[in-house]
Amino acid sequence: MSTAASTSLDGYEVWFLTGSQHLYGEEVLKQVAAQSQEIANQLNASSAVPVKIVWKPVLTDSDAIRRTALEANSDDSVIGVTAWMHTFSPAKMWIQGLDLLRKPLLHLHTQANRDLPWADIDFDFMNLNQAAHGDREFGYIQSRLGIARKTVVGHVSNPEVARQVGSWQRAAAGWAAVRTLKLTRFGDNMRNVAVTEGDKTEAELRFGVAVNTWSVNELADAVHGAPESDVDALVAEYEDLYEVVPELRTGAARHDSLRYGARIELGLRSFLEANGSAAFTTSFEDLGALRQLPGLAVQRLMAAGYGFGAEGDWKTAILVRAAKVMGAGLPGGASLMEDYTYHLEPGAEKILGAHMLEVCPSLTAAKPRLEIHPLGIGGKEDPVRLVFDADASPGVVVALSDMRDRFRLVANAVDVVPLDQPLPNLPVARALWEPKPDFATSAAAWLTAGAAHHTVLSTQVGMDVFEDFAEIAKTELLTIDEGTTIRQFKKDLNWNAAYYKLAGGI
Ligand code: MN
Repeated sequence: MSTAASTSLDGYEVWFLTGSQHLYGEEVLKQVAAQSQEIANQLNASSAVPVKIVWKPVLTDSDAIRRTALEANSDDSVIGVTAWMHTFSPAKMWIQGLDLLRKPLLHLHTQANRDLPWADIDFDFMNLNQAAHGDREFGYIQSRLGIARKTVVGHVSNPEVARQVGSWQRAAAGWAAVRTLKLTRFGDNMRNVAVTEGDKTEAELRFGVAVNTWSVNELADAVHGAPESDVDALVAEYEDLYEVVPELRTGAARHDSLRYGARIELGLRSFLEANGSAAFTTSFEDLGALRQLPGLAVQRLMAAGYGFGAEGDWKTAILVRAAKVMGAGLPGGASLMEDYTYHLEPGAEKILGAHMLEVCPSLTAAKPRLEIHPLGIGGKEDPVRLVFDADASPGVVVALSDMRDRFRLVANAVDVVPLDQPLPNLPVARALWEPKPDFATSAAAWLTAGAAHHTVLSTQVGMDVFEDFAEIAKTELLTIDEGTTIRQFKKDLNWNAAYYKLAGGI
């Protein structure tokens, strides 16, 4: 896998900052340092915390805080900062540092002791353990400065604290991946489609994603130049990993179509690696000299961590890439998805999601079938593709729309469910899900929000990670879940319309 498309969280760090002041004297500050190190260690020991927490010396003055913020900004491995005011840290000291900080911030509101030492407590203990008001001082200055942050409350021994810290770290990692994302488009958007359009210049400012287009025939050159020996090796890998249908196997009538599929994968992968790209789009209306619409190749690259959007949909490709990184190491997967067709049995409504070809096999732990079928669109040769049913799992579908004055994320909590019956004639991978809170409310809310038909479906992370991501990205997020009612959702849309115009300034 290329470095650009890696989903590993191993190279990332989150800095652990502890606030205090000189007033307490050396002895107390030593205790503050030891206890905050202990809290950082306990978080690091939790399997729910995926990114390494790096403890930093206790901060007691504005110059040290300002320099720490600048160092965090300039270090690419630092994806976020956690701050805790063990004692009282007069918050004017934090103004310059917080104002300069450009990394995601988590305010951890905790204390070293879980229980009050009822029999022993004296005023020295009170002096040392005063996060209860030290963090309130810090909360004030963050709110006064309008600093976006996640606030996590509780003793570090509570698994819910580590879980929330971990899910925020995942969101911060997704943000780091997006900030450095180079997205390669082959061809433009599908003609006349509105929702896949968007402001690419604004996307680079808001998300840090560089979205640029290459001629599909440059890709075709790379595809047709792939060495035969590499094609041989990749086909052998396919035959090992998948249930390859007999007509595609070595020596069979349509084996050359499989070899061409391998060729597309090799060309696409090398092209993206040369570009340092971790996300891409294709367009079935613009295939140039390519003989097949890329299907298998796109599925395989998504499984390797690449973001992808079909029909030129670069916005969904960003979401797929972010979801891949945010879900790194967790069971389940993430894929481009499209709401395709419905099962409208009263009380048992379901959404059948799929795409022409491009659904990521990370959505199943089963062995996919590698098949070939005609594609009635695009006027090219029959493309090879992986066919499978997505595994049952809780999940979330998320769409990104360009609302002209801002980007809007819409997320729906769903349950991916087993198929009611087999789908023997459907020649593509598919997922069946029940949206929350119910089909009618979900679809009405989705339509009212103007959310897209392309989404990322993640069964690795849930709504909370996308909520943290949206907070970090300062991007509107409308959530549709158990608590959603259309009446309240419409009010949220109206409030948001006013809020984002005001927040954006003149
Ligand atoms: Mn589509």
